[in-house]
Formats: sequence, C-alpha cells, structure tokens
Amino acid sequence: MRNRIVAGNWKMNNNAQQTQQLIDGLKAHQPYKEGVEVIIAPTYVNLQAAVVATNGSGIVVSAQNMHQADAGAYTGEISADMLKNIGINTVIIGHSERRAYFGETDDLLASKVAKALAEGMRVIFCFGEELSDREAGNHFNLVTQQLSDGLNGVEESQLTDIVLAYEPVWAIGTGVTASPEQAQEMHEHIRSHIAEHFSDTAAAAMMILYGGSVKPGNAAEIFGKPDVDGGLIGGASLKADDFAAIINA
Ligand code: PEP
Repeated sequence: MRNRIVAGNWKMNNNAQQTQQLIDGLKAHQPYKEGVEVIIAPTYVNLQAAVVATNGSGIVVSAQNMHQADAGAYTGEISADMLKNIGINTVIIGHSERRAYFGETDDLLASKVAKALAEGMRVIFCFGEELSDREAGNHFNLVTQQLSDGLNGVEESQLTDIVLAYEPVWAIGTGVTASPEQAQEMHEHIRSHIAEHFSDTAAAAMMILYGGSVKPGNAAEIFGKPDVDGGLIGGASLKADDFAAIINA
C-alpha cells in the first residue's frame, strides 16, 4: 500500500514574512489525515527559514529546482550541496515552467535528476503534455518520451528516491482540471511504463502525483483514483485553509 504525498509548489510567491505566516497557518491545521506526507517548496531565499519554521512539524521542505554541477561559475544557480547543507533533501525537477520559460530540455533534466540522486536527494520529477499534444492524440507518447528521457540512466534501486508528478500543462494555473478519469488513465499508463522499463514491484511502489488546478472541491475525487497517490499543488497551496483541505482530502 503506497502512502500519500501532497506537495505545495509556492513558485515565486511569498516574501519572508508571508512564508512564515503560511507555515504558521499550515501548522495550525495539524494534525492532518494520517498517512499523508506534506511537502512545501518555497522560493530559494526562504528555504532555510522554512526548514527552521517547520522543525518538528513533520512538514518537509523542498527546493523548486537545482543545478546539475557540483559548484562553480553558474551565476544565479544553486547546488545540491548547498541545499543539503541547510537541511533540504527533496527537489522538484522538470516543472513545466522551468521547461517553458527557462529552456530546460529533457537531456538537461536527466542530468539534474542524476545529480540529485547521486547526492542522495529525493526528486519530484514533473512532466506532462501541452493541450496541442492532447488534441493531436499524442499525449501518451509524449509522456512516455518525457519519462524515458528524464529517467535515462536511473537504476531501479534509485526509484525509491523518485516521486513522479504528472502535470498536464493545459491544467496548470488555468482552473481547468483533468477529469479524474483522464488523470487515472494517464497514471495507469505511467505505472505500466515503469513496470515495462523496471519491474512490476517498482511500478507498484512508484508514487505518482497529479498536478493541475487541484482545489479543495475536486481533490477528493482525483485522489480517489487508484493510481493517483496525491498531488502537486500550485495556486491552492498558497492559502493555508485550502492547502490543508486538500491534504485532508
Ligand atoms: C503547478 O504549478 O505545479 C500546479 C499544479 O499549479 P496549479 O495547482 O496552480 O494548477
């Protein structure tokens, strides 16, 4: 039986005070439903304060991105070592906004995934099709390709440090959610891909999150599908009441 994960990607939102307030608000809603791991991903400058503020609460703090090199002349970038040094062991890689606005390609993402795993970090690997891919009936192929490329070189023994997040781009921040059936059929497809490339055991253990306009009103139905193990939440994770309601869904 797989656990559940509900992760909030705060993107480029919340200054230091707002980050503290949101964490206080989330803590005020505890205890959450049993068996749910709660992850928050504040922006870089607030990561260390978030680690301190969540100490003892069970809430896990994740980075939203990292660089694939050890260190060096990469202005504006953050390394795995820097993250681990302040107590961050989870990192989101491959978010559609990184792909679309920062030119992150499948190859680059594969190198980031490999680096994070080599550093002993856990990766939340995001992927998902554009509306045009779905309209062209190419969404399953595209997702298969993103998975094969992004996990290129990953060993089965490393899969326990990977959480997959299927995020159809047309559903991110748009208010349009994939129907629970659309989410389930894609998650089933993803699980089959893992079974084919690794093993049935690995597929059965794989955590696959859904992301894209999840809200308190639709979370329970989406999370109720057998291959959906939780969610990656953007907008609704910025309000403590909404995020807590999604966690408890
Ligand atoms: C996201 O950006 O990962 C996301 C799912 O955003 P939203 O929930 O706002 O659609």
